[in-house]
Amino acid sequence: MNGMGGFRRSNYEPPKAPKPEGIKDLPRYLGEVLGGFFVRFAYIVKLVWQSGPWILFLLSFVALFKGVTPVIGSLISKEILNELQLVVRAGALPESEFWTSSVFYLLIFFFIYRILLRVINTVSNALNRIAGEMVVKEVKEQMMEKSKEIDLASFDDPAFYERMENANREAGNRPLQILTETFGIVSTAIEFISYLVILLAAPGLSWVVPIILAVSIPSAIVNFIYRKKNFHYMRRRSKERRQMDYYANLLVNKDMVKEVRMYDLSDTFIDRFKAVFGKYYQGLRKLILHESAWHILFGVLSGVTNLIFFVSIAVRVFTGEFLIGDYNLYTGAVMSVATCVSALITSSASIYGGTLFIDNLIAFMKEEQTIVPTAEPACEVKRGGHTIVLEHVSFRYPGMTRDVLHDVNLTIGAGETVVLVGLNGAGKTTLIKLLTRLYDPTEGRILLDGRDLKEYDLKSLYAMFGIIFQDFGKYAVTVEENIRFGDLHKEAGMEEVRAAAEQSAAKEYIESLPMGYDTPLMRIFEPDGKELSIGQWQKLAVARAFYADSDVLILDEPTASLDPMAEQEIFNQFDRLRTDKTTIFVSHRLSSATVADQIVVLGGGTVKEIGNHAELMEKRGAYYELFSTQAKRYMEQESSQEERPRRRRPR
Ligand code: ADP
Repeated sequence: MNGMGGFRRSNYEPPKAPKPEGIKDLPRYLGEVLGGFFVRFAYIVKLVWQSGPWILFLLSFVALFKGVTPVIGSLISKEILNELQLVVRAGALPESEFWTSSVFYLLIFFFIYRILLRVINTVSNALNRIAGEMVVKEVKEQMMEKSKEIDLASFDDPAFYERMENANREAGNRPLQILTETFGIVSTAIEFISYLVILLAAPGLSWVVPIILAVSIPSAIVNFIYRKKNFHYMRRRSKERRQMDYYANLLVNKDMVKEVRMYDLSDTFIDRFKAVFGKYYQGLRKLILHESAWHILFGVLSGVTNLIFFVSIAVRVFTGEFLIGDYNLYTGAVMSVATCVSALITSSASIYGGTLFIDNLIAFMKEEQTIVPTAEPACEVKRGGHTIVLEHVSFRYPGMTRDVLHDVNLTIGAGETVVLVGLNGAGKTTLIKLLTRLYDPTEGRILLDGRDLKEYDLKSLYAMFGIIFQDFGKYAVTVEENIRFGDLHKEAGMEEVRAAAEQSAAKEYIESLPMGYDTPLMRIFEPDGKELSIGQWQKLAVARAFYADSDVLILDEPTASLDPMAEQEIFNQFDRLRTDKTTIFVSHRLSSATVADQIVVLGGGTVKEIGNHAELMEKRGAYYELFSTQAKRYMEQESSQEERPRRRRPR
């Protein structure tokens, strides 16, 4: 992950325990496994604490209560049965004696205990659900807060991106599962110890304990091993699982459905899904079958040993050494100890399965931010005209071996109109990302009004730009909100929203919408949401930039979605409105470039030519060639359109 020219990645390395090298190494290995467990456990506890300290207290109380109650229940039952047996031995008694007997009071006590148990169980379930929701909210909120500041470069790192996607996807269910299981372990441990004490204290029964442990521990360990194997298998097959999701999603994705139908790709994707499933399933089936074979073996073994225990306890009831209540208590204890051992290990294994989620989450939360102001305090951008200077700027994306931009020098003066020109992949968008400090140059520096861009406060810097990206935002809110998102701090009336729409040539179609500016957009949430064409969306994005009233306006490749007329119209608007504003255009259509103060031709990662239209045409270099090719194609189109009707005439 490291060694990506200038990018620092997450400083969090999940605790990993290398495999033990022999029996002597076992304590170190176990220490590290436990260490890892506690790091993650502490993280979960911290999360619960942040979600609400009361949750932590209540969950601990409930865990404690649930741990001791089974034993209390067994002890009361034992007393009741023993008392009844003594009565039976003594022969029948008159009913009136029942009301004063200890059996009666014990029964009342038992049912108070049962009611209490039920109440606590209900409370515990409700609490788990509420706590789960709160923790999920906390995790999602923390992730959203963190996302605000994650470097864009981090999103370009596939390993980071996958971890983040996984953490985000599982944030809805994992926290609750881990929470329930973690506190479940506390209850089970208490229950386990209590029953163990009962068996150890029982006259002549302590020999049972090591045998139960000897049988149930291996079974639980096998369980743990298979949970672990399963977990690692799923992790190894993560690519296949994501592929299956991907293929399944292609057939139900609204944006993809048109193309999938038209090219008849459905069956291909279904076949690919099946093929990937086959790969994924093969190993899994083997794991499931092997695990079941072990369980059958241990099932038989524990059945036989339990039979021996039950018989020996029953024999002592026969000989009068134990009463029926004792039989009930001890056989129950034998079963409970075994169940507890397996529950303890299964829960630990299950929490272990959740560690991937926690590790992903921790890594995400600790991802280092590099796009931060270097000056203390950070400089504020002053409103007005700005000069931007690029000095020997080079840049490469994380993980790439070659510069996308190399040694670029450029000065953009206040109030200038600059058009960036170049073939696809020439680095125009990348240059915009550097100018706006979404990324930092790998080498060289960018100066804004004489100061390094890095010294400015990010919010103030970003507010300086009104930008329309190629993949501009489409928000499922109303038209008005879509425009106001340009500057949420501005307290402007409707006139300004309308003015922005007018400047971006969006006014006409907005006013023809059923609810005008209040029309909800997209049909994701609202059944009456309006779907717009790409060109209409782009005009809205332009309106957003106009509304923001920023000092530097940037429009990245409007060609894709705007017709030439609309592009020219918007370009003219930019030109008219700019006064002292700087305008940067990235465009394929060179016709828009003719009026620019500066045309910057990018190619092969460097600035090939700079100048205005007349200068560059005279130079007869790259720009001249691009322009002539486009002009020629345009003329050809024009003439072929004129020719067509003529051809029809002879018929
Ligand atoms: P243009 O806007 O001129 O079409 P871009 O600036 O988008 O070009 O891309 C320049 C080069 O950088 C291309 O080769 C592209 O593949 C690469 N590139 C763009 N974005 C990324 C990214 N996030 N990670 C890695 N490479 C990228």
